[in-house]
Amino acid sequence: MPTILNHPTHPDCDLLVIGAGPGGYSAAFRAADLGLKVILVERYATLGGVCLNVGCIPSKTLLHVASVIDEVSHLAAMGVQWGAPAVNLDSLRSHRDKVVKRLTTGLAAMAKMRKVTVVRGHARFVDAHHLAVTDTSTSAPTHTHTPTQGGPPKTIAFRHCIIAAGSSAVHLPMLPDDVRVVDSTGALALPFVPRRMLIVGGGIIGLELGTVYSALGSRLDVVEMLDGLMPSADRDMVQIWHKTNAHRFDHILTQTRTVAARATQDGIEVTFAPMRDGDTVPAPQTYDMVLQAVGRTPNGRQIGADRAGVFVTDRGFIQVDTQMRTNVAHILAIGDITGQPMLAHKAVHEGHVAASVIAGELHGLPKLASAAFDARVIPSVAYTNPEIAWVGLTEDVAKAQGVKVKRGVFPWAASGRAMSNGRDDGLTKLLFDDDPASKSHGQILGGSMVGIHAGDMIGELALAIEMGADAWDIGHTIHPHPTLGESIGMAAEAALGHCTDLPPVRK
Ligand SMILES: Cc1cc2nc3c(=O)[nH]c(=O)nc-3n(C[C@H](O)[C@H](O)[C@H](O)COP(=O)(O)OP(=O)(O)OC[C@H]3O[C@@H](n4cnc5c(N)ncnc54)[C@H](O)[C@@H]3O)c2cc1C
Repeated sequence: MPTILNHPTHPDCDLLVIGAGPGGYSAAFRAADLGLKVILVERYATLGGVCLNVGCIPSKTLLHVASVIDEVSHLAAMGVQWGAPAVNLDSLRSHRDKVVKRLTTGLAAMAKMRKVTVVRGHARFVDAHHLAVTDTSTSAPTHTHTPTQGGPPKTIAFRHCIIAAGSSAVHLPMLPDDVRVVDSTGALALPFVPRRMLIVGGGIIGLELGTVYSALGSRLDVVEMLDGLMPSADRDMVQIWHKTNAHRFDHILTQTRTVAARATQDGIEVTFAPMRDGDTVPAPQTYDMVLQAVGRTPNGRQIGADRAGVFVTDRGFIQVDTQMRTNVAHILAIGDITGQPMLAHKAVHEGHVAASVIAGELHGLPKLASAAFDARVIPSVAYTNPEIAWVGLTEDVAKAQGVKVKRGVFPWAASGRAMSNGRDDGLTKLLFDDDPASKSHGQILGGSMVGIHAGDMIGELALAIEMGADAWDIGHTIHPHPTLGESIGMAAEAALGHCTDLPPVRK
């Protein structure tokens, strides 16, 4: 049985946050803004967690470069030609590092302005009100290795705690320990540009990084156990992505497993097997780089949660209620460690809720203390080229859940802006509740977009869902012309049966 101590008489802080990722720093900053004394413990030298250091930001920095390279090549069809791009990897790495540094030093400055005390070290619970922090400041300031710990642990007493310890990349035991086998962090380091690259796992992270390497000159293969790539995205969107991206790949192996891999002088030799008896797969292939992108696992088993009495699932997740409370009421958890979707914007919102709940309780403010995570939807974006973005129900999910929906679809081939951009490989699809007996009859339940900048536009659909908008609301909202965002209004008009930018509906 864990020792559960009462509130410490002399706590070092009102709130201790474990982990300075988007969830942790957002919670710490919001709590400090609400007047709490906050300590933020982080094992790495910089704040920002996976997202800022080895996730969202460096990947999007490199994807921007990749998309400009691709875009420039499209200009050939418009009569403008450049030669092949000359890529200086050192400069590219240093550009990526500068972007990351600007953001992470900005966070450190904002922590100081808010008087949030940042403690560098690896945190483990001692009991439900004390944490032991082992110093990690002597290890290299890099996110590529787990930091080394040294010296006797420092004990910190807290009144409330938020666990925001995030997640780590899953590593496949069958892959050899070799510099040519990388995870997302290793791929973002841009060690070299492989001639042939295998992406193990056809999800968003793998395909985003594949897009980067392809733009830099690599030929790609991808292997995925399921029957399609980016399985949670709408199939019509993935089909359009596939058409534009087929040229990057030698093999797209779905319903296929990686069963063996060995390091040879020529590369990593990988053997495949079909998921279904009777299907065929290519003979073993040799790659210059193998990227393992098979998902992320929560860090719940690395913080001694049991000593605080906090329940951690077998897979390492920490279960929470809508106020982000664990089974121990004064210990809350947020972000990747609490479950899917593992996305930065979900972590941030959860962090704000958790901070409000604690501040409300400590200040005796019932309204603040009753904060809860009640978002109807959380948008997802694959920053591939073209981008795929979706929010709420997709058609497959609606079908699986037996929800009757009406579609409004606008192909970007009819968009003046998409054509002007030379990028009419896009589609906007809205789904409206089509069950007359439903309370939300007529309201938008989901939306998906594929096309350049789709990720920048999906927020409008998230807002529409949160506001309970229907096709009339969206179709009668004036969108500026000519923009890609117009496709949203036009898809709503299509659902109403009167989009004047599409052929008339056959009566
Ligand atoms: C390549 C890649 C690209 C991504 N792109 C996107 C994207 O475009 N959009 C998006 O929304 N999401 C993206 N993600 C996911 C996103 O990075 C995560 O969802 C997000 O970082 C989760 O935030 P978090 O605060 O829960 O945890 P994390 O960011 O994982 O932060 C947790 C922090 O806790 C620290 N920590 C852990 N244990 C301890 C301990 N015991 N003591 C002290 N410190 C500890 C860790 O060092 C880390 O800094 C991407 C991820 C990857 C890998």
